[in-house]
Amino acid sequence: MKVRLITLLSNTTSVQGIESRVQYQIRNLVIESEIRLAEKRYMAMQMNQFKDENLSRLGFGAMRLPLKENKEIDEAQVKEMVDYAMSHGVNYFDTAYPYHDGKSEIVMGKILSAYPRDSYYLATKYPGHQVANSYNPEEIFEEQLKKCGVEYFDFYLLHNVYENSIGVYTDKRWGIMDYFVKQKELGRIKYLGFSSHARPDCLEEFLKYADGRMDFCQIQLNYLDWTLQDGKEKYELLEKYNVPVWVMESVRGGRLANLSKEETEKLLAHRPNESTAAWSLRWLMGLPNVKMILSGMSDTEQMKDNVKTFSEGDPLSEEERAFLLELAEGMKGALPCTACRYCTKGCPMGLDIPRLISGYNDIRFSPGLTVAMQLDALPDDKLPSACIGCGACSRICPQKIDIPAAMKDFTAILTKLPKWADICRQRAAAAKALHKD
Ligand code: SF4
Ligand code: SF4
Repeated sequence: MKVRLITLLSNTTSVQGIESRVQYQIRNLVIESEIRLAEKRYMAMQMNQFKDENLSRLGFGAMRLPLKENKEIDEAQVKEMVDYAMSHGVNYFDTAYPYHDGKSEIVMGKILSAYPRDSYYLATKYPGHQVANSYNPEEIFEEQLKKCGVEYFDFYLLHNVYENSIGVYTDKRWGIMDYFVKQKELGRIKYLGFSSHARPDCLEEFLKYADGRMDFCQIQLNYLDWTLQDGKEKYELLEKYNVPVWVMESVRGGRLANLSKEETEKLLAHRPNESTAAWSLRWLMGLPNVKMILSGMSDTEQMKDNVKTFSEGDPLSEEERAFLLELAEGMKGALPCTACRYCTKGCPMGLDIPRLISGYNDIRFSPGLTVAMQLDALPDDKLPSACIGCGACSRICPQKIDIPAAMKDFTAILTKLPKWADICRQRAAAAKALHKD
């Protein structure tokens, strides 16, 4: 401003001319700075108040970090992403004990150590969902603090409380809940919560057990899983128990960022400048009990696109939200099971057919471990492979679903996926190798 005024004065001859031009120039400068301030307000990261904390609505999930050719984490790029996040108001970073064979915690801790400890929120998780012979929360927790180079965690989660792990988390022998509640009292954990891929009945069982000791719950949620994975029911259940929702898989592992050409065109017709990922994120931003939306970003471009989305005050209209749910129905190509359960009474194998069909619909949309993990909770004689193909179910099904064919196909898909127990063994070996390094 000083330079501009001096230039102006040196180019002006009469005193009157100087006065009016100075006034004019000052008025312009004031307007310019007001516009810049308004732009800044408009482009600022959206924040959410959670208890005493001011959280960015977008959180950086560190489970799919960029990799170098040798498959090691590309630390230079992660640093670039963290720096970009921090300079644009993103202050929440979510890692976990097993991510990247235990190296995500180390890398995130190292990169974040360049910033003052109270300028970011660090979240990690206890791996009680992994199959093991015994569980020692103290040993893991102390190791995590060391790996991340911190003295406390802002947010700490019991990792994936679901049908198979709820027994571990509630087992008095391991004392997991008591141990972490104690750490919270000691100030080594600020907020204690859990993540979950459980079905609604198991989720409620744990909420009852927790009895108000959980500050938040992280679930898989997006406009597709609102119906495909009972997301709506889980969201409403958490609302009923006054537990704020943290969202993972906000773009379903990238699947909702890479829609088909036809689906993308439909979205572009509504909002020509919006990315498909932004639609999914904006849809979540419209749910009032969602306090944190995580995105597992794998490069700086994704980070920039997400930061832009969360910095614009441009919510979806009710029509747009409904349009997305409609689009999701078309995407699923799902078997139209209404869960009426007519078929289950006559099944000689006692299979929970609607539950299996729900898993089949899910895994057909995007094959992943979540469904396989959920099915691990079932005994062998209740898996789709137990179907004897008698057809009694199909004869009674009002939707005329070819259930035996679905069970056969489901079994074939499952046999191609790695077994959860094998993955846990690999993770335990990776953790052991890290200790040796
Ligand atoms: S076809 Fe399979 S699922 Fe259907 S009733 Fe027979 S055993 Fe049960
Ligand atoms: S009868 Fe058909 S619609 Fe009803 S639960 Fe069974 S498969 Fe689903």
